Amino acid sequence: MSKKANTFQTPIGTRDLLPEHSARWEAVIEVFSNVASRAGFSLIDTPIFEDVGVFTRIGEGTDVVGKEMYEFLDRSERPMALRPEGTAAVCRAFAQHRPPVPWKVYYRGPYFRYEAPQAGRFRQFHQFGIESIGSDDPDIDVEVIALGWKVLEAVGINQIELLVNSMGDQETRNNYQEALNAFLKSHVNDLDEEDRKKVDTHPMRVLDSKRSATQSVTKEAPRINDFLSAEAEAHFERVRDGLTALKIPFSIEPRLVRGLDYYTHTTFEFQSLALDSAQSTVCGGGRYNGLIEELGGPATPGIGFGMGIERLLLACDAEESFPAPGSRVQVWVVDVTDGSSARDLTHSLRDHGVTADRSFDQRSMRSQMRSANRSEAEIALIIGEEEVNEETVAIRMLRDEEIGQIVVPRSSVIAEVQRLLGLEL
Ligand code: ATP
Ligand code: MG
Repeated sequence: MSKKANTFQTPIGTRDLLPEHSARWEAVIEVFSNVASRAGFSLIDTPIFEDVGVFTRIGEGTDVVGKEMYEFLDRSERPMALRPEGTAAVCRAFAQHRPPVPWKVYYRGPYFRYEAPQAGRFRQFHQFGIESIGSDDPDIDVEVIALGWKVLEAVGINQIELLVNSMGDQETRNNYQEALNAFLKSHVNDLDEEDRKKVDTHPMRVLDSKRSATQSVTKEAPRINDFLSAEAEAHFERVRDGLTALKIPFSIEPRLVRGLDYYTHTTFEFQSLALDSAQSTVCGGGRYNGLIEELGGPATPGIGFGMGIERLLLACDAEESFPAPGSRVQVWVVDVTDGSSARDLTHSLRDHGVTADRSFDQRSMRSQMRSANRSEAEIALIIGEEEVNEETVAIRMLRDEEIGQIVVPRSSVIAEVQRLLGLEL
């Protein structure tokens, strides 16, 4: 049969989450929600679009804002953006609602960046993330990183490298930017052309470049670690000690400055060694002590991370971990009379906490049994003329041939199903 091309397709860089993949998707989100709520974080959900200013504050010269952001005017000509990341929106919410601190929140949902699509890189992608707002205590940095680690552990991946750095405080950054700017200027001709433009305005962002010409220059660049103020060094030391105490292996990566403007002190990334390096970062985060003030709120420190759900599942695929959960249908009701028994029984099974489904359209016994088997249900309840006349139901165990088929009175079928499924109350 030839297939006619559809008029409409998903936009480039987006995907449908189809039923065959959705159970795994929901399961991974549940793993994350459980890990986060066990650590005292609560769900927050912010709008998918915001005033464009919420995001331009995080760094107009960054790729995320300057090149990748979906911006539009609404019908009243207000400048809006589809959110490209989570932290700025959560900080906007904090500045708006002024909740008591510590404010520990987690989120999950779609984010939008106009990037060149490839494996693990989409225009609509999904993240879950956490933000812990209100304290500068380095033990919170440890708690946040440990939580990312727990999620990776819980989905069963272990080919993971944790990279950690400190960007220090304002004093550190000023001193370092000066030294880095001087270094980059003396090598400007060896840098990739795209990156040359950033040398004077945003020298630290040159370190974040993925272009190889630039990377071979920045290998030799001065390292921020040598510029940390005494206070910044003490903070970083406590973070390193905490990770060591929790037995979370990490390496220090002095070039890890990350793409956004707002980071101070701790920055970190979890990279999957099982994925191609162009999309190996499954999670990135850091501390942003100036961001809330920048968004009009009271000066409040915070730290968080964002984890790419598609990337995380790719890493799971590469390590053959976190298989899709099995079917959820427990009982299939097969009715070869007029369908009334299927109608009534599925309804009351569901009322009694049993996941039940059935066929429609008065299909043949064979067709209904095929559906029952395909559903991977454990039990088929079968009703023919004889069962209707005798007010009974035949129970067939689809995956346990030893039990085979038993016939029970209609009045006790729910209790019998609950017993067989181990659901007795
Ligand atoms: P990359 O360096 O891979 O572009 P990033 O530094 O831009 O990542 P962040 O802004 O830190 O990414 O976002 C956090 C996480 O979200 C990333 O580590 C990644 O797992 C995921 N992510 C970011 N952009 C995309 C995208 N376009 N498609 C899929 N996942 C993405
Ligand atoms: Mg990016």
